[in-house]
Amino acid sequence: MKGIAGKNVLVTGGSSGIGQAIAVRFGQEGANVAINYRKSIEEAEKTEAMIQQCCASIEGCGQRSLLVQADVAQADQVQQMFEAMVQAFGGIDILVNNAGFQISGPSHEVPMDSFDRVMATNLRGAYLCARHAIQHFLDAGKPGSIINISSVHQTIPKPHYISYAVSKGGMQNLTTTLALEYAAQGIRVNAIGPGATVTPINRAWVDDPDKRAQVESHIPMRRAGTAEEMASATVFLASDEAGYITGQTLYVDGGLTLYPDFRTPWSSE
Ligand code: NAD
Repeated sequence: MKGIAGKNVLVTGGSSGIGQAIAVRFGQEGANVAINYRKSIEEAEKTEAMIQQCCASIEGCGQRSLLVQADVAQADQVQQMFEAMVQAFGGIDILVNNAGFQISGPSHEVPMDSFDRVMATNLRGAYLCARHAIQHFLDAGKPGSIINISSVHQTIPKPHYISYAVSKGGMQNLTTTLALEYAAQGIRVNAIGPGATVTPINRAWVDDPDKRAQVESHIPMRRAGTAEEMASATVFLASDEAGYITGQTLYVDGGLTLYPDFRTPWSSE
């Protein structure tokens, strides 16, 4: 895709699932990729090896990759992550806010500290990383792009996952507010809204054929999405091919946000 080769990209939570597919896809497009991971360096190393494999297949590829450990909920670690990236690559052009997790429970019983932890990663962490990226874009006097990996649940309520739903709802406003505030400086801020996607976050149903069929029966396209499909949309939004798009969420959801219950009319004659 146009305008990706040679760019410096940071992917948070880039060692598994959607983040890993995004990191690898940027690598395939010739970008320098910093892979943020929180705990397992083994997983991050696997992602790096996948990127190096892509590089081996690109003639004259001078692309670099970097592993950066940080918990995006911790301001000092986020600062160190950006310093490490700028030192290694000389700057940043594209930030992908992908790190996220969820905790379930009846909304009136969820311990407040678990609510706070989800918000600290999914929303506050994304904002923290966006602040650093924007400061770098402004200091460098160059355009930049931020892609937030949100969810269909930024708009569809998710009972029993109150902190997750609230964090993704907040992410929608993070996307639109930052997009409007920095549009004149050439900084674009967009999001993707994945539907049900086959990744470790969904380990409860992806490997169980009955549960998976139950999940997929709710999806108009009758199948879950793949991490690679999320990566395609992300790289598109970061590319020059989306150069006039800002403040938008691109739902990549097999039709899940299309009110599936209205597939056949039931509310009128
Ligand atoms: P995943 O569990 O494979 O990936 C999440 C990654 O975030 C992991 O690598 C994890 O270590 C990392 N992470 C979590 N907390 C972190 C922190 N504080 N600091 C740094 N890294 C942290 O799951 P996934 O499905 O690939 O999720 C990626 C993103 O996509 C999440 O934001 C999730 O909400 C979103 N999403 C996923 C789906 C889906 O169905 N899989 C649907 C909608 C949205």
